[in-house]
Amino acid sequence: MNAPVPVCRACREPIEDPDDAVHLGHEEGNSGPGWDIHAHRAHIDQAGPDPVAERALARLAQQGVKPTGVDLSPRMVQLAGERWAPLGVRIEHGEVLKWLAADDARYDAVYSIFGAAWFTDPGRV
Ligand SMILES: [Zn+2]
Repeated sequence: MNAPVPVCRACREPIEDPDDAVHLGHEEGNSGPGWDIHAHRAHIDQAGPDPVAERALARLAQQGVKPTGVDLSPRMVQLAGERWAPLGVRIEHGEVLKWLAADDARYDAVYSIFGAAWFTDPGRV
């Protein structure tokens, strides 16, 4: 069985040449292992973080909440941070449970879009 052809996050076209596929990160799925994120080498700077999670954080910031997002991908953290930091969105890099264990801040709510709450004992979150 052949591996699926990755799709570019920026242009949404298949990346037929494996040497042209740049791995940008991994997003957890709501009910499965998730998926890897790729982009054509020429489109790396056009690829952004997942628009659903990004919009959720931005919407919270617009409502007066001080949201913090945690992502496994350093590239996605960089891109989302550059875009949404002016609104007050804080984006951190790391595995969420390790990140929360090391963070001293207190949160009114913890919300998972991509899997931490699905695959983790809620008591640990
Ligand atoms: Zn592309």
